Amino acid sequence: MPNSMEYQPVECAIVVNAAGAFSGKLAEMLGIGLGPKDSLAGIPVPVEPRKRYVYVVHCPDGPGLDTPFLIDYSGVYFRREGLGGNYISGASPEEVEEPDASNLEVDHQFFENKVWPKLADRVPAFEKLKVTSAWAGFYDYNTFDQNGIIGMHPLINNMYFATGFSGHGLQHSPAVGRAVAELILDGEFKTLDLRGFSFRRILTQEPMLEQNIV
Ligand SMILES: Cc1cc2nc3c(=O)[nH]c(=O)nc-3n(C[C@H](O)[C@H](O)[C@H](O)COP(=O)(O)OP(=O)(O)OC[C@H]3O[C@@H](n4cnc5c(N)ncnc54)[C@H](O)[C@@H]3O)c2cc1C
Repeated sequence: MPNSMEYQPVECAIVVNAAGAFSGKLAEMLGIGLGPKDSLAGIPVPVEPRKRYVYVVHCPDGPGLDTPFLIDYSGVYFRREGLGGNYISGASPEEVEEPDASNLEVDHQFFENKVWPKLADRVPAFEKLKVTSAWAGFYDYNTFDQNGIIGMHPLINNMYFATGFSGHGLQHSPAVGRAVAELILDGEFKTLDLRGFSFRRILTQEPMLEQNIV
């Protein structure tokens, strides 16, 4: 993100705030959330970066072709990556142990302590896995209800949102792109009714919680 000295005004008819993890910050640049606390203008876009790790592991004796993308009830997940005994895996940390999101360094201890034991519990062959690489990225985390925020802002009616997907946005992207295009071009949702995802639920404090996500 640029610092405030580098901000430049941009004139436009319509803006779609699809800045992912940074869309809360981008909205703040327009004053959204900075008004009096008891007013509409004082309600921020509740989306912030949350660091998540993905670990690539190698395990020649691990499960094969018929292995689905598996999310264990503990929240640990793995997915086969090709046919050479490689897998990707990870888990989200507990709220109280959220890592510092000012960098993208990988915490390997998190794998040792929180991911590996659960993987090996689920698939005993994973006792012998080896981590070959890892990376970190930012979840576009909606602190209100971990769900997308889609549609027009109630005060700034030429700013649309398509954000806050909280780590499951790839799955939503075709539908969201289509719905937001309809909203802009036709003034309403046509083929997909995504009104439930509007900013309104934040104003009325009616969360639409996701249960089965990592
Ligand atoms: C480790 C990890 C694993 C994930 N796994 C899955 C998965 O298995 N399934 C799934 O569905 N989703 C997954 N996701 C989530 C998914 O990647 C996101 O929900 C999705 O990318 C959101 O898409 P987006 O277009 O809203 O935002 P992004 O893809 O984050 O794009 C936002 C864009 O806005 C740009 N931007 C930011 N600030 C500004 C600014 N001020 N000015 C101009 N541009 C700006 C950024 O550079 C970026 O290009 C995962 C995410 C992570 C981090």
